[in-house]
Amino acid sequence: MLPVSRGKNARAIHAVDRGRRGLAASLWFATGARAGKSELTALHRAVRRLHQSLVRRDGPLTRQLVLHPGSFGLGRLPEQLVPDQITSTICGFCSTGCSLNALLRDGQAIGLTPNKRYPVNRGVACPKGWEALAPLAGPGRALRPLLREGAELVPTSWDRALGEMVRRFQSIQEEHGLDSIAWLGTGQLPTEELAFLGSLAKFGMGIRHGDGNTRQCMATSAVAYKQSFGFDAPPFSYADFELSDVIVLIGSNLCIAHPILWERICRNRQERQVIVIDPRTTETAAAATWHLPVRPKGDLELLYSVAQVLIANDWVDHDFIAAHTGGFAEFAQHVARFTPEAVAAATGLCAQDIVQLAKTIHEGRRVSLWWTMGVNQSYEGVRLAQSLINIALITGNIGRPGTGANSITGQCNAMGSRMFSNTTGLFAGRDFANAEHRAQIAELLSIGTEHIPSEPSWAYDQIMEGINRGQIKALWVVATNTAHSWINQADAHDLLGKLELLVVQDMYSTTETAAFADLVLPAAGWGEKEGIFINSERRLGLVKKVARAPGQALADFSIVKLLAEAWGVGPMFKDWSSPEATFQILKRCTRGRPCDITGISDYRMIDEMRGIQWPLPEGQAAQPAEERHLFSDGRFHHADGRAKLLFEEPRKAPESVDKNYPLLLLTGRGSSSQWHTGTRTNKSPVLRKLFSEDCYVEVSPKDARDRNISQNEWIVVESRRGRVLARAFISHVVRPGQCFMPMHYAKVNQLTFPSFDPYSRQPSYKNCAVRLLRKSEVPDLD
Ligand code: SF4
Repeated sequence: MLPVSRGKNARAIHAVDRGRRGLAASLWFATGARAGKSELTALHRAVRRLHQSLVRRDGPLTRQLVLHPGSFGLGRLPEQLVPDQITSTICGFCSTGCSLNALLRDGQAIGLTPNKRYPVNRGVACPKGWEALAPLAGPGRALRPLLREGAELVPTSWDRALGEMVRRFQSIQEEHGLDSIAWLGTGQLPTEELAFLGSLAKFGMGIRHGDGNTRQCMATSAVAYKQSFGFDAPPFSYADFELSDVIVLIGSNLCIAHPILWERICRNRQERQVIVIDPRTTETAAAATWHLPVRPKGDLELLYSVAQVLIANDWVDHDFIAAHTGGFAEFAQHVARFTPEAVAAATGLCAQDIVQLAKTIHEGRRVSLWWTMGVNQSYEGVRLAQSLINIALITGNIGRPGTGANSITGQCNAMGSRMFSNTTGLFAGRDFANAEHRAQIAELLSIGTEHIPSEPSWAYDQIMEGINRGQIKALWVVATNTAHSWINQADAHDLLGKLELLVVQDMYSTTETAAFADLVLPAAGWGEKEGIFINSERRLGLVKKVARAPGQALADFSIVKLLAEAWGVGPMFKDWSSPEATFQILKRCTRGRPCDITGISDYRMIDEMRGIQWPLPEGQAAQPAEERHLFSDGRFHHADGRAKLLFEEPRKAPESVDKNYPLLLLTGRGSSSQWHTGTRTNKSPVLRKLFSEDCYVEVSPKDARDRNISQNEWIVVESRRGRVLARAFISHVVRPGQCFMPMHYAKVNQLTFPSFDPYSRQPSYKNCAVRLLRKSEVPDLD
């Protein structure tokens, strides 16, 4: 096909037109004598269709498709994509932390390609990474501050916006106390921005309660590690994927949630087994060597049973247990009753499979256990994560290559948020409640200890509850979309509507949360600012500014800086002059801590070394190994140097199925082209083609048959809290009695049940009772 643009190549079009007329005339002469009028009309239509298929009147010009030699090893490229400079940066979606090469022309990114030299992704990227520039140019960008006047959000100046924010926040604090304001941040901001936001809020503005959307994905892992190891220290590097001979994935659909990490498994040249424990036959389960379709919430019993089999058969590492752990006798006693026969029904598996799983772990030379949201987003997630940690510890599968109890995080900077957001923990894994820790930070930041709260912040759900009780009157939401993503959405909407003041700081003014805002502060997005992301394997990577923010949007760092001045505490943060200056401050705060990075000189070193994993204390090798795991010496971070084996009785699910709501709804990621609430991925025309525009629900063939539901039919999914229309996707991926909906569609959280892990306060998104109805069964459907 020859692409020809209207008006630009008129001669070419005329030539083709002449050809078309000639062809029609020839056919007339050839057939005219025999053909009737209708045949001739059909013939004309056919010729017209042929002509239309030969000539496109829109799309790129031919010359735009001509390939030119590219530089920087890029091969041949269309002229408009030939860069004059190239630089690397870190992807701003997930926690894998892939490096992307930004192709620059006149300092602006015109394209992205995966970086071949980076140890994380080695030249590959998922669709989101390839399309990471598209959301910057997408619709709905916040271009100016917006202030609510009646029903409208109207543009205003930065001066007025910040003046109003300060005036109204301070007056609410004067009337209702310092704790009447809270903030919600995100794992999407670079570390320096998160740290500045948390420091200004806590130390400068006296706001005690702040949390982030990392509570929704990572809190369980952070708490589980902290309790077990004495510090929130994920022990692995991605190299372990390639070095294990037994890889156990639980509650993790790696193929689509972290596709580049699945690539790392595909590079594994060991005689390996990949065991997937998941209620659904996910893409990852389908590609595994063994899939164990555990019954939802039967996972804790299953893992205790695996431990029971390991201990009963003496398949444990006694030397490691004696030298490096505490609580083994109590743990052995606890799991004794979880025999495979006793738990088979609860797990939905047969006893032989449980024994075989334990045997496979025992026979593996290097066993690694990995988890994501299927574990974290549970009402007993911390104990579940620790049941994996326990198996790694009692079998000595930690501190060696290819081993570990390994949590893969969600957001690009979830790990930066865990260490430096100053929300529920003080910088570098310190505790607000610890006077010594407060004194250390006060000295390091040259501020008075009285500025540092002595109690940790409320968690996200407690802040929401605080709004409900009327204790929190104003909320500052930064780069997260509470109105979409918070569990039990109708409730969340009511609560946002109750606030006296809602400030939304975001790159888009069109999010579901911004619709409730009284003030919108326009922020620069990923690629329009710089800073450090820390990925799942503790690697610090440098994010660079490769595009100009539109309109009056500012980097979150600059917004916080301006706000500090407007609040009157500018001098407290005079040294926080730039992201890199802030990095130096944070670096100082890590000295002597398990996450010590004092050996990193500056941004340049991080860039040149293709990312650096923590820890790297000053004086340690200037050229550390590119991929490092923790605990090679068997020393953990509790005072006695031992890891703790922690356990608890499994608890009943807070909401169970019954005769009125007989199906269990699971939620999770839908495709590798979608990211969380779709705020960014929905802006890419390319990504939009890769996922279903319509909200859908996976239904088992049996459940569909029982309800007379057909493939692709619009049906109603109803829980006790809400009702959602979705297309039925009938598939063996889910088992009878279960159904699944991707979390990316705004209405899904109208269904979810608000329950939380008692230690991590992470919401349990993966179990609520629903029923499926045909539309005709719901007469009052609006
Ligand atoms: Fe970005 Fe994650 Fe995709 Fe890598 S896997 S390109 S970090 S979204």
